[in-house]
Amino acid sequence: MSRPGKHVIASAITTSGPTHLGTVEEFFFPSVITNRLREMGDDPDFIFIGDIMDAFDSVPSGVPGDLKPYLGKPLVDVPDPYGCHSSYGQHFLDDTVSFMHKLGVFPRVIPVTELYQAGRYDSYVKMFFERLPAVREILSVTSLKQLPDSWMDVVMPVCEKCGNIATTRVTGFDGEYIYYVDDKDVGYAKGCGHSGKVSISSHKWKMAWRLDWPTRQAFLGVTLEGAGKDHHTRGGSWDTAEAIHKQLFGREPPLTYRWGFVLLNGRKMSKSQGVGSLSELMKYLPPEVLKYFLLRVDIEKDKNLDDSGEGLIRLIEDFEDNLKKPRDEKKRLAIHFSNPSPSWKVRFVSLLLAYEIEGTWEGAKRRMGLDDDYLKPYVEAWVKSDKLPEEYRVVYRPKKAEGIVLQWINSLTGKESGAEASQKLRDISSTTGVPIDVAFSSVYESIIGRKSGPRLSSLIDVLGLKRIIDDLTG
Ligand SMILES: [Zn+2]
Ligand SMILES: [Zn+2]
Repeated sequence: MSRPGKHVIASAITTSGPTHLGTVEEFFFPSVITNRLREMGDDPDFIFIGDIMDAFDSVPSGVPGDLKPYLGKPLVDVPDPYGCHSSYGQHFLDDTVSFMHKLGVFPRVIPVTELYQAGRYDSYVKMFFERLPAVREILSVTSLKQLPDSWMDVVMPVCEKCGNIATTRVTGFDGEYIYYVDDKDVGYAKGCGHSGKVSISSHKWKMAWRLDWPTRQAFLGVTLEGAGKDHHTRGGSWDTAEAIHKQLFGREPPLTYRWGFVLLNGRKMSKSQGVGSLSELMKYLPPEVLKYFLLRVDIEKDKNLDDSGEGLIRLIEDFEDNLKKPRDEKKRLAIHFSNPSPSWKVRFVSLLLAYEIEGTWEGAKRRMGLDDDYLKPYVEAWVKSDKLPEEYRVVYRPKKAEGIVLQWINSLTGKESGAEASQKLRDISSTTGVPIDVAFSSVYESIIGRKSGPRLSSLIDVLGLKRIIDDLTG
């Protein structure tokens, strides 16, 4: 048991497929709260539960093997398609845990099967059956769906004949045995028709989700647990949990909060994103940028990720702008809890350009005066990927200056910053009447042999103004 005043922070996921960015919210937000409490001198316990008893309800794209025959069975009874874990559920729980670790999040991870096997739910199951009319009433009111008087699905038994959990229906309880018939059709699975019984002590059952949640909060002593906003709508499972705590357990529910969805290019993320979506993203975005993305807007709002090359570069630049000078208090905290590496000494885009121009990481590092390799894998991933926006594909091809380019070069001392040198070009354009776009495209042509490119000031900073002047006049 936890001592009074000590927070027990919980979170959980159904490990039904590959980890995606939406999953990250489930462990990242509670970890930020945990860290905040630690900063305030508290010593919270942070528990993360893997709901691997839940039914396997769809086969995510990219997962190998034929898993269709296992639809409707508990995730813990579905074989690991990769052969490295005891089950499908355990494999993807570990997949999520490995992403947690990459993001510096280290909760106490508990597969829910451990809680079942240890008998933690047993007395609650008995109590729910004993108080069936009250349970039925709470569920009907809080889920906005009237349950029939015959309803007694406090638990979902695992069918002894076919192994399904999604399709069984409870028909009786005698104090020790739960009687069921396996006859439901849930779309992705159909019951085999078998009737049978399972004992409470066999743990061949799981509690119905809306009862499971408050039950484990009660026996784990959870004081704080958030959830996605879908659980927090009217008729959502939080309303049920709250009522169960108050009316059946006679205790206060934990504190709660809710978060918005992560959208990918405007659409809600789901496991249908398939294998590799998050690990792919993490090739291009250092962990702190990903964390900043989740924290930079209000937690209750949806967060939309534009995962085009341009969109991701914009995100990195926004992170860097706020790292240098936070736009407001929210951004300052977002940066603080994204825990940035001290290696962000030069602009990421400048580093990309330097790599493009020098052709190697060592060259880029030397040019930018960096002394560590923290950003190397990200820069290399960008340079090698077709995600890199065309404007960042540059090769230094100096050409002898003439016309407006020569006028510009002659106006410079070589000591100007990239921004100052760009401003000089604008000034010359307005005094000579040469249109601004012509002036800029002429300069780009003289430097990189194309009519456009990355921001001129960055390009000048990376190349060095002195070198440009020498090469264009030499
Ligand atoms: Zn595995
Ligand atoms: Zn069956």
